[in-house]
Amino acid sequence: MHEILRHVGAAGRVLDLGCSTGSYRHQDFSFTTVRVDLDAVRIAPGVAFVQADASRLPFRAGAFDAVVCNHSLEHFVGLDAALAEIGRVLKPGGCVFVSVPDASAFSDRLFRWLSGGGIHVNAFVDVAQLIGAIERHTGARHVATRPLYASFCFANPHNRTARAPRRFWIIAGGREGFLRVGTWVLRRMDRAFGTRLSVYGWALFFGPVAEAVREDGWSNVCVRCGAGHPAEELVPGRWNMYQCPTCGARNIFTQDV
Ligand SMILES: [Zn+2]
Repeated sequence: MHEILRHVGAAGRVLDLGCSTGSYRHQDFSFTTVRVDLDAVRIAPGVAFVQADASRLPFRAGAFDAVVCNHSLEHFVGLDAALAEIGRVLKPGGCVFVSVPDASAFSDRLFRWLSGGGIHVNAFVDVAQLIGAIERHTGARHVATRPLYASFCFANPHNRTARAPRRFWIIAGGREGFLRVGTWVLRRMDRAFGTRLSVYGWALFFGPVAEAVREDGWSNVCVRCGAGHPAEELVPGRWNMYQCPTCGARNIFTQDV
């Protein structure tokens, strides 16, 4: 999403829709961030937060230079109404970033089973269909897709406020060491056997993004914060481990292919 955010000026406004605890560090940018979530989530201080339904946004038309939907569309009841609202509050010529899980992938199936279902109300399996719906509702043209890899960070105790459901025993309670090794093993299996066990979903870019968006997948995804980084920006050290530039957690390095 930073390919979009880097080009929003200081006078601009960005809507972080379905923000949870925040899709990006607002301190890294000079524009105004407005975070919106259906739940009264806890977010970092110093940024506007509005509790609202995505299908009824309390903002004027054309209020935002960009809209970010980072792992949120899969949660929206009334998806078409939410997309129409994104189109309404987006400035003409604005940009949209969307990331969603591929519901046919192992990671999303595992997530839905572990959480007992019901959290991901929209199951995306046809990315072309989703792209078409976003273009139709927002008027922003699709310009790039980047495949996303899983790190199963949803299971990491660092990211949970409630006690884990009992089923989490099957992944060792989401312990970081287990996720670190498990993620690496799945990547290796995918490369050896052509499986899709470590696939997460897609990052989609819409509108006149002012820089070229890389469409190669970044296989190094942090098991704690979920941030992906290109392999060439990472420095693997002892035991082939690297420190996540975003949160500092240790991960096992893999080359991108
Ligand atoms: Zn991290």
